[in-house]
Amino acid sequence: MNPILSRVKEIFPYTRDLRREFHRCPELGFQEFQTSKIIIRELSKLEGFSIQSGLAETGVVARLPGGKSGKTILLRFDMDALPVQEATGAAYASEKAGIMHACGHDGHMAIGLTTARLLSENRQELPGELKFVFQPAEEGLGGARRMIAAGILRDPEPDIILGLHLWNEKPLGWIGITDGPVMSASETFRVTIRGKGGHGGKPHEAIDPVVASAAVITALQSIVSREVPPLDSAVITVSSIHGGEAHNVIPEEVILTGTIRSYTKKTRDLLLSRFRQVVEGVSGMHLCRAELEIQEISPAVVNDPGVARVLRNTARGLFPEGELDENYRTMASEDMAFILQDRQGCYCFIGSANPGKGLDAKHHQPAFNFDEDAMISAVALLVAAVPELSQG
Ligand SMILES: [Zn+2]
Ligand SMILES: [Zn+2]
Repeated sequence: MNPILSRVKEIFPYTRDLRREFHRCPELGFQEFQTSKIIIRELSKLEGFSIQSGLAETGVVARLPGGKSGKTILLRFDMDALPVQEATGAAYASEKAGIMHACGHDGHMAIGLTTARLLSENRQELPGELKFVFQPAEEGLGGARRMIAAGILRDPEPDIILGLHLWNEKPLGWIGITDGPVMSASETFRVTIRGKGGHGGKPHEAIDPVVASAAVITALQSIVSREVPPLDSAVITVSSIHGGEAHNVIPEEVILTGTIRSYTKKTRDLLLSRFRQVVEGVSGMHLCRAELEIQEISPAVVNDPGVARVLRNTARGLFPEGELDENYRTMASEDMAFILQDRQGCYCFIGSANPGKGLDAKHHQPAFNFDEDAMISAVALLVAAVPELSQG
């Protein structure tokens, strides 16, 4: 067996125990205080690290200078849990009512700390410098942006950025490492369509925002189907409509909310400008006024083909029997995108479902749990790839 893989398997009980410790004490975004203490406790046991804590409330950065010259590599792991009531029945289930590690970030931190431990064992041989970033609040709260503001991309500036997600959409043994865009850019919108309220029996005296909304929603469907090139990917979803109270009253306004997703800047620009034109134009045709609020959630996660190639070669060497997927993409989004934006790096997916063991509930579900052996694949991949990538 590959010596890195056998060493990772040898210390797997450490990885698993840590993951379970994190799992027992889940904390929501920017409140990961206990989580942060565990991370610092473990990093403090290792030699060669300088540790900074309290970044963006609870974030931790640990720097490990190698013994040789080379590139600076930033490895990012997210820390937060979700407001979900756990229903896994696991012996190590959440001890906090209504909060659960239902996305696998407990596993990510255990992977990060194990990787830090193994890479520090050979730090004299290690080229360059490593920056382990433990980031709070990935789940839609803006943790990555705040960590960037706290300086994770400076002093020293990283040359390469790495990150990964345990992925229950795919089975244990599967690894997804794709060139180019891999997770979509995401914006949310809130559209208010204003008309003039009135009596339901006398529509000619009112301006009906309900009919205008129906037309807007229908018209929006043709942007993706008729204007985005068929081989590109995009989504416009209207996911809520609110307007009116009574069966005989035409309301003043209707509010629509939803999400817009894309992979490339060109498509994103097209979607955003046409979204605005269609909403305003169709509302106007119905004598209504539209107000739009569009909020950027995150850009697309875009992998550098050179870094992805090194990771794929490493994965092939470590797991000759595994399934390596070079074309996996998802329309989910990740705030890792802000850290990777305009930089070289790669975000990988590590298959973690095991239906035979009942470990195949999807991310964010109360029954979510993953096969802990997936952490072996993740740690081995990082420990083997980092020295390759950091060589001058
Ligand atoms: Zn999540
Ligand atoms: Zn996640």
